Amino acid sequence: MMSASDQHLPAYVALSERIAALKAAGICYQCHDLATGELFGDQTVIADNARIRIVLDPNPKSRGHTIVVWKPHQADFSELEPGETAELFVRCTELANAIKRGLGAEKVYLVTMCDGEPNHLHIRLIPRYAGEPIGSKRFVAPRSPIGNAEATATAIRNALPD
Ligand SMILES: [Zn+2]
Repeated sequence: MMSASDQHLPAYVALSERIAALKAAGICYQCHDLATGELFGDQTVIADNARIRIVLDPNPKSRGHTIVVWKPHQADFSELEPGETAELFVRCTELANAIKRGLGAEKVYLVTMCDGEPNHLHIRLIPRYAGEPIGSKRFVAPRSPIGNAEATATAIRNALPD
């Protein structure tokens, strides 16, 4: 999912190449990371429980670009049971509202693709701020190295319900 504008981020390229290598070997990169922390161990965690881990994207498209990982292995959202769908979507709703309250985002977009085998269910929440272009332009916005990750995570965390 890299675009030409992502090529200047060496850490992002290196991570993408490692994920591609794991996929080529038939290994689920997310289950591998949940077991080892090798890939994403340095990401900033906003919240974490037995089934859902919420982290900041280290190369965000906007401040507060967040990844919601469903920990049990499912390839994508179509495999979820209704109760699991409810749990995950309620958490995403809480998180979107926390991003609005905590960071002042005007709108939060939710996207999930998880295409290409093997893959592992995760959802991206991408904030849009006042004055930024609306709609699909946000999905192709360039990535930038994250700055003030802990301050961003704290602002979101403090706005999340317990
Ligand atoms: Zn997995």
